[in-house]
Amino acid sequence: MAKDNKDRMGDKLRDVEAAHEDQWARKRDAELLAQMRNKLAANMVCPKCKGALTAEVRGGVEIYACPQGDGAWLDQNALDAALKLV
Ligand SMILES: [Zn+2]
Repeated sequence: MAKDNKDRMGDKLRDVEAAHEDQWARKRDAELLAQMRNKLAANMVCPKCKGALTAEVRGGVEIYACPQGDGAWLDQNALDAALKLV
């Protein structure tokens, strides 16, 4: 293999490795955010049934929902994000 081809192969392998690291980091970030959301939601109760709310992401917007279907709540940032979707 010519030196030039070898260099290109090395560059390609580094690109693939970097893409895998980015994918791993995005997945890890998503897991950490989900843990944080669930921790926050565990401290929030539904005003109707007093059950613990669950954290969910719907359409890219974070909401806190009653598992019994009594309703869903948003913080200010989520409300702003939801309004931008309308
Ligand atoms: Zn409820």
